[in-house]
This record gives sequence, structure tokens and C-alpha cells, in this order.
Amino acid sequence: MRTRRDVLADAVERLRMARRDTPELDARVLLKEALKLSDTDVITKLDDPASPEGVVAFNCMVARRVRGEPVARIIGHREFWGMRFDLGPETLVPRPDTEILVESALAAFRRAPPKRVLDLGTGTGCILISVLSEFPEAAGVGVDKSERATAVARKNAERLGMNGRARFVVGDWASSLDGRFDLIVSNPPYIARGKIADLDVEVSVHDPHLALDGGSDGLHAYRRVAEESARLLPEGGVVIVELGEGQEKDVASIMREAGLKPEKAAPDLAGIPRALAA
Ligand code: GLN
Repeated sequence: MRTRRDVLADAVERLRMARRDTPELDARVLLKEALKLSDTDVITKLDDPASPEGVVAFNCMVARRVRGEPVARIIGHREFWGMRFDLGPETLVPRPDTEILVESALAAFRRAPPKRVLDLGTGTGCILISVLSEFPEAAGVGVDKSERATAVARKNAERLGMNGRARFVVGDWASSLDGRFDLIVSNPPYIARGKIADLDVEVSVHDPHLALDGGSDGLHAYRRVAEESARLLPEGGVVIVELGEGQEKDVASIMREAGLKPEKAAPDLAGIPRALAA
């Protein structure tokens, strides 16, 4: 009988031939998922025989990866801020760069923590849930245009023990909401419509365009988020948005036009201005 190590080696070879960037890592993550192994078993128990059903499941996953589907979509979840977030067809895959928004929120509320948090375009709920995990007294609302996304976010909140503090609603930005929010966060769609096709296939084909499409100039959603923020933030409240590459100046002027005071954006791991607070 073939060992797990043998089937893993075959998969790495197939992924390498298909010119995937990180064949070893991808194969190991898929093997762990297909054979339902723990973090340690996928390292220490590789010389055990591989079960035939496990191999079938694994090879299916590898074939999808060979065709360019992102690993997170294949396994159906992704880690963000140290927590596991399940994905849906109408949510983005959480990106490491988006964690900068959570860090900016922590920095902005070092003294008095926020009580009410709003996440516009919540998707998996990853930003809202991560922020709430850092502010145990806070409660929040996540809004998404997609009903299916809010269902995914709700499930994530439940699994992560946050459903008492996080509520998810379908809406057109914040148009159905009133009251005050001390903190508003958003990773809105910010790709110019005409540029979506130029993105990596992992994004342009496998991410929902609803979560990417920022209108003709990529800035449509920011105008809505700025307007809603001006309406819902109290004096001293903060809105933090994720920026696409090269959007800092334009988004800062949109914030100013709405009567908000933008700060200098915080850079992501590659040094690109990524999180703008106002
Ligand atoms: N960050 C995404 C990308 O990699 C875009 C997500 C968005 O539009 N908010 O293309």
C-alpha cells in the first residue's frame, strides 16, 4: 500500500508541472484536509499508509488546484487573525493584508474601546469578528448585499462564539441602519470594473465580482461608505477602509468631501498604503 508520503510526492510533482507557486505547501494543506489529519500528523505520520478513500478525495482536490482554483476555495476555509473562517461563493477569501484594518482599529481605540462596530460589506464577517474578539465589551453589525454571504458570516460568528455580539443583515450599505457606531470598518469592492479581467485568475475567476467591482473608477463604494460614515459616526468616531493599490489620495479626498478627516494610511506587508482611517 502506498504511504501518505508517496501520494504527497506525486501531488507536488503535478502541481510543479502545472506551475503553481507553492506546490509543497499547497499539497500538504490539501492532504491534511483530504485525510482529515491534525497539524502534527501531517508532519509526523507521513509514513502511514494512505486510505484509498482519502487518496481519491486528495487527488480530486489536487486536480482542482492544478486548474488554478485557490487552495482556500478548495478546502472551504481560510485563517484570518488566528481564527478559521468558512467561505461561500459570494464571499472573498480573507487576505492577510486585510489584517492591517484590525491592527489599525486596535491602534485607534487604545484608550477608550469602541462599544458599537459596523462592518460594511462584511463577506465572511472576518473583520467584524476579529475586531470584536479584541474588544470584549463591543457589539457589532455586519452588512452585506448578499444574503448568502450574511449566512456564511452568521455561521462563522456562531462557531467562533461571537453570535451574541455580532448581528448580520442584508442591506444596501447602511441605508437600513440608524443610531451611532463608534467604529466603522470596510473592505469594499475597489477594483475598476474594466480591470477585473486583468487580475490573477485566482481572483478574477474564483472571487465573486460583487466583492471586487468598484464601478468605472473603482471608487464608487468608497463614496457610499464615506457618506454613511459621516451620517453614523459620532464626534471622535473612526472609519477604517481597505485601499486598493494607488487609491490613497482619491479615497482621502472622498473622505474630506464627506466632512471626515483622513489620516495617513497604514502600509501592508509589502509597504503599500492599505488601511485608511478617518
Ligand atoms: N484585495 C482584492 C484583490 O486582491 C480586492 C478586494 C476588494 O476589491 N476589496 O484583488
